[in-house]
Amino acid sequence: MNTRYPAIARTVVLLLSTGAAVYLAGCGGGEVTTVAPSAAAADAASTPLFEAARVSDPSSALSAEEATSLAFMREEEKLARDVYSAMAALWGAQVFDRIGASEQAHMDAVKQLLSRYGLADPAATTPAGQFVNRSLQSLFDTLIAAGGASLIDALVVGAEIEELDIRDLRTIGTRTDNADLLQVYSNLERGSRNHLRAFAEQLLQRGVTYTPKHITQAEYDAIVGSPQEKQSFTFHPPTGGIQ
Ligand code: ZN
Ligand code: ZN
Repeated sequence: MNTRYPAIARTVVLLLSTGAAVYLAGCGGGEVTTVAPSAAAADAASTPLFEAARVSDPSSALSAEEATSLAFMREEEKLARDVYSAMAALWGAQVFDRIGASEQAHMDAVKQLLSRYGLADPAATTPAGQFVNRSLQSLFDTLIAAGGASLIDALVVGAEIEELDIRDLRTIGTRTDNADLLQVYSNLERGSRNHLRAFAEQLLQRGVTYTPKHITQAEYDAIVGSPQEKQSFTFHPPTGGIQ
């Protein structure tokens, strides 16, 4: 028996011992449906054991693409955190500290999913500013150079990162039906919309109207023209400030 999920395994054993077949939702919903014992008899040799195995080993519930996307988002959130940390040190603007703390919460939420599904964490040992994904490494280097020019350039970099997050979260959200992933992606995107609003406001206060590069002008206008949204994390409750 897999000792990582003893309670779930015990539940499955208990249900099996009643003679009912057990079907567990494959996408993290945790719903249990029992069927009549006659139907159970036909499937007893295969289906219940297969479903039980899925519960004991959640990684089997994610496709390779879902796993890759999850690992990518972990590092994309790290990129945001690491850029904002560098910009906070460089320019001393509070907005970078505040949003950087939120990015740590975003990273943590994705890490919870990686752990839940038994996947390796690409950010487990990499220090600030280093990434396993080469395109994210290259993007980080470019953004750090751009944000070093002036505070306004740093705020533009912030808005661009949030645009990229929103675009990528929307894309990968269309490629999964996993309830755990969808919930976290939705929360991260809401956080990114709030961050984009904050950077746009900071720029506007300095007389700069930001022009989006990665989402459409209409999408951008809809976001910055609407108020900050409240956010609640399943895996990580917000601790205040901009989430
Ligand atoms: Zn984020
Ligand atoms: Zn963000």
